[in-house]
Amino acid sequence: MQSLTVLGSTGSIGVSTLDVIGRHPDKYKVYALTANTQVDDLFAQCQQFLPEVAVMRDESAASNLEQLVQSAGLNIEVLSGEQGLLDVAAHTSVDTVMAAIVGGAGLGPTLSAVRAGKKVLLANKEALVMAGALFMDAVVESGAQLLPIDSEHNAIFQCLPERYSRNLDSGGVRKILLTGSGGPFRQRSVESFPEITPDQACAHPNWSMGRKISVDSATMMNKGLELIEACWLFNTSPDHIEIVVHPQSVIHSMVEYIDGSVLAQLGNPDMRTPIAHALAWPERMESGVGRLDIIAQARLDFEAPDDVKFPALRLSRQAAEQGGTAAAILNAANEIAVQAFLDEQIRFDQISEINEQVLNSCEAVAADSIETVLQADCQARKAAQTLVDSILLDSSGNLRAVGED
Ligand code: NAD
Ligand code: MG
Repeated sequence: MQSLTVLGSTGSIGVSTLDVIGRHPDKYKVYALTANTQVDDLFAQCQQFLPEVAVMRDESAASNLEQLVQSAGLNIEVLSGEQGLLDVAAHTSVDTVMAAIVGGAGLGPTLSAVRAGKKVLLANKEALVMAGALFMDAVVESGAQLLPIDSEHNAIFQCLPERYSRNLDSGGVRKILLTGSGGPFRQRSVESFPEITPDQACAHPNWSMGRKISVDSATMMNKGLELIEACWLFNTSPDHIEIVVHPQSVIHSMVEYIDGSVLAQLGNPDMRTPIAHALAWPERMESGVGRLDIIAQARLDFEAPDDVKFPALRLSRQAAEQGGTAAAILNAANEIAVQAFLDEQIRFDQISEINEQVLNSCEAVAADSIETVLQADCQARKAAQTLVDSILLDSSGNLRAVGED
């Protein structure tokens, strides 16, 4: 019986994880569930999965949950704040941690699980993007087992040689082909990008996901973050990774070998497949995902990405090549810009304008400690917020370039 902590259990990945676990009560029990503010959702999950601990990041949400748990007569300890998250990620009774908090907020708890040597199922790509080298060093040092949940990285992991030892060359790998649907605006004219609304950006053609990653898919920043994620997970550089637009999201990524073989992993676009794969690895188990009907699917299309229309691709390569804290800076700017877009404070096209200005104006330094990474993150958030504020102040709603008066 494996004991699990699900960080971010009320989110899209968290809910899918509990769906898979609920199908295998003989194999998995839940030690802890966590959420930010969604008390009712977390309480409903507590009633169903009876964890030993429930954590609300938000203090007042935690006292609301505590009351609900007590009046229902449930024997569940309720913790709060960042410390609660760090504790349940590293607790000795836990074997496996699903890291499914969204954004930089997941870095501390995810690293806590890594440092405690857990089996870590990584959905929270922002954590790895921010602190890649330190994160991967901690994995080696603690002996943690890191398994990718992002569907593309899970697909790549499945297509790599069985005894793969983090060296693509020695495994005969020439290249990684990272696929992406191109998002909801693949065919939309760039001239009309300023009119895009948050609801349009969140309506992904193939995947149902949280709002932040949905906007990232629409700007293709998600693919950019995934490029950086893949560099760290598979110990490679951006020039060994080709981004391929594949609108049907049936192939989840591919690995090309020096003998000309290209291996792909296919399946219906449902995150329960990579979740079940990583949970059961190296075994396999049922996930609840329907069979891929390849005949009904009939065709698979591929095209090159357009990095003029989607500057996020160019910016992510730039940050990956720059190294140090550059990726943390880009990620932080993007989190602020996406939230401002979701709050209808800035236009869709201004997300990448802000990201570009912050990446180019905040100086990247060597990422030699978590404190340095967090400082870069904080500085970039402030710079991005200043740009958002300048847009709010400007009556024409335009972003003025830094240094322009
Ligand atoms: P979501 O917004 O649906 O859920 C986020 C979860 O994190 C919720 O449980 C929320 O309560 C919690 N949370 C939010 N802010 C927090 C904070 N400050 N402190 C503590 N907890 C907080 O997000 P999601 O779509 O499930 O994505 C989660 C992560 O998985 C992201 O990093 C995303 O990039 C990655 N991912 C998601 C998908 C997908 O299909 N949804 C696919 C691949 C990767
Ligand atoms: Mg993905």
